[in-house]
Amino acid sequence: MFHTESYDVIVIGGGHAGTEAALASARTGARTLLLTHNIETIGQMSCNPAIGGIGKGHIVKEIDAMGGVMAEAADQGGIQFRTLNARKGPAVRATRAQADRVLYKAAVREMVENQENLSLFQQSADDLIIENDRVTGVVTQMGLKFRAKTVVLTTGTFLGGIIHIGLQNFQGGRAGDPPSNALSTRLRELPFTVDRLKTGTPARLDARSIDFSVMEAQPGDTPTPVFSYMGNASQHPAQVNCHITYTNSKTHDLIRAGLDRSPMYSGVIEGVGPRYCPSIEDKIVRFADKDSHQIFVEPEGLKTHEVYPNGISTSLPYDVQHAFIRSIKGFEQAQIVRPGYAIEYDFFDPRGLKPTLETKYIDGLFFAGQINGTTGYEEAGGQGLIAGLNAARQSRDQEGWYPTRSQAYIGVLVDDLITMGTKEPYRMFTSRAEYRLLLREDNADLRLTEKARELGLVNDARWAAFSNKRESIELEQQRLKTTWLRPGTVPDELAQQVVGNVLKKEANLMELLRRPEATYQTLMTLPGAGTPVDDPSVAEQLEIQAKYHGYIERQQAEVEKQKGHELTMLRVDMDYSVVNGLSNEVAQKLNEHKPTTIGQASRISGVTPAAISLLLVYLKKHG
Ligand code: FAD
Repeated sequence: MFHTESYDVIVIGGGHAGTEAALASARTGARTLLLTHNIETIGQMSCNPAIGGIGKGHIVKEIDAMGGVMAEAADQGGIQFRTLNARKGPAVRATRAQADRVLYKAAVREMVENQENLSLFQQSADDLIIENDRVTGVVTQMGLKFRAKTVVLTTGTFLGGIIHIGLQNFQGGRAGDPPSNALSTRLRELPFTVDRLKTGTPARLDARSIDFSVMEAQPGDTPTPVFSYMGNASQHPAQVNCHITYTNSKTHDLIRAGLDRSPMYSGVIEGVGPRYCPSIEDKIVRFADKDSHQIFVEPEGLKTHEVYPNGISTSLPYDVQHAFIRSIKGFEQAQIVRPGYAIEYDFFDPRGLKPTLETKYIDGLFFAGQINGTTGYEEAGGQGLIAGLNAARQSRDQEGWYPTRSQAYIGVLVDDLITMGTKEPYRMFTSRAEYRLLLREDNADLRLTEKARELGLVNDARWAAFSNKRESIELEQQRLKTTWLRPGTVPDELAQQVVGNVLKKEANLMELLRRPEATYQTLMTLPGAGTPVDDPSVAEQLEIQAKYHGYIERQQAEVEKQKGHELTMLRVDMDYSVVNGLSNEVAQKLNEHKPTTIGQASRISGVTPAAISLLLVYLKKHG
């Protein structure tokens, strides 16, 4: 028998969760193996070539703040950048990049290949080695056994994957890739709760057959946004436009006529699809009164003619896809390059996970990404980073770490999943976070980089850049608080223009910056304001912190109030039926969920504040 090397951590799957997991693990110094079906598909975008968006962009910035690669790859592969909600408050502003899928994938691959402590191996993982309820390695398709202290599973849509186009279906992990059936069968023998979900993708079109002249062009923003805290716009490749067109009543009639051959509506698909990314047939059935839906026509890259029509994901038969696409303005002559399809796959009830993303049933085994019931590259990447970090920490007998709900969207994501589970593909929205004003895109580094440095995730260059920025913010805040402008020193007209009023009494620059009319830049034009900082990200931070300081302080006070609950741990083997006074219903719910903290217990539906008080009394007595 050939003996392979053993590792601290093995990560199975080289998608968005797997690459962040493997890189995070290796960055902390753990000897890591990334075992994946095909090295050529590392970092592949299975669906639309875009990173970020509302809620998702926040996660990308958090991954970046902790040294991950998604933002850097987006900067190197992004061909159209926008700030969504630019006119709204800073909490909901979000960066989105349309990516050249080839450049994005190449950037991820390069970072993976050049990461110290990280090895790659191309092969399917078909089995896990489990001894005394602990994972100790992986067996590949050709029977190779790799041993490891911990294993992270990130197999995406591949477990038991079935692809549907109309009433035809065939096995696949995504179009062009085989499914992962042996591993799916093996995992179903273990004590996990497995269910099915589905997701879908639209047909891809040949740009040369599209009439862009009848569509609305949508250019990116200028100045071009940048994703990574370490990035700059000069890294971006050439920038191009997206376009917008619409479905119409003829499109809808054609789709309705094809519904009897839809796998969704004829009952062939069992899995539940993503509510917020529905197929076009879903939209037409659910919003029957709407006679038009928007389609973003997005280029797939700079050196390909393929176009992604965002908004018409479908699993209708090919002839129906062809007909309804050609009914759309600008697509009258459209040539389909790849048909749209839906995919059904296995996922595991995430309530079977600890907040470190280790499974509750098999020690040392971590799950991340689509297999936990999420959808999206960003959600997968965020979980991957947490799982990879904790797998590495456990391999060194270190305690786990995970961000709280008040620290990061990744904290909200993990807590939502492990507390409430999910019945449909879960995607992030800003509305899921109760401390939205604290969890902004602009301050992900201030929230997370110091902790990530302590955990060994952040390299020297990032740490130096971050420390400089933080120091500049602090120094400038100090200067603004101690620089006073006196009445008469600023001409009335200028004061009116910049701060909305004449200066009637002495005021410091920080007070003036809090006025709704003032911006940092305009304030610095006042005589006596001194020399401004030249880093725009520092200026942005000063302005946001000054203007929203009342709201921020209020949310921080709320976080402090909740802190006790978040830090009060509950044993995973605790039996709630012995807690005095708890109703049977609540005890049963707690026994099913096995929350890890009082805070988590309080978020389980049906667990009342009174039940939490009883639990606290019990803990005081029995520890
Ligand atoms: P993936 O990116 O799928 O990566 C899984 C990796 O594991 C692959 O590299 C695979 O080769 C590898 N692998 C699998 N099994 C094994 C094994 N046994 N051994 C070794 N390697 C293995 N997201 C959205 O946000 N919106 C959408 O509309 C949307 N539509 C989608 C439509 C389709 C058809 C598909 C396929 C995906 C869609 N997604 C969508 C989801 C998005 O692609 C995923 O959320 C994201 O890729 C998940 O990342 P992941 O790392 O969990 O898995």
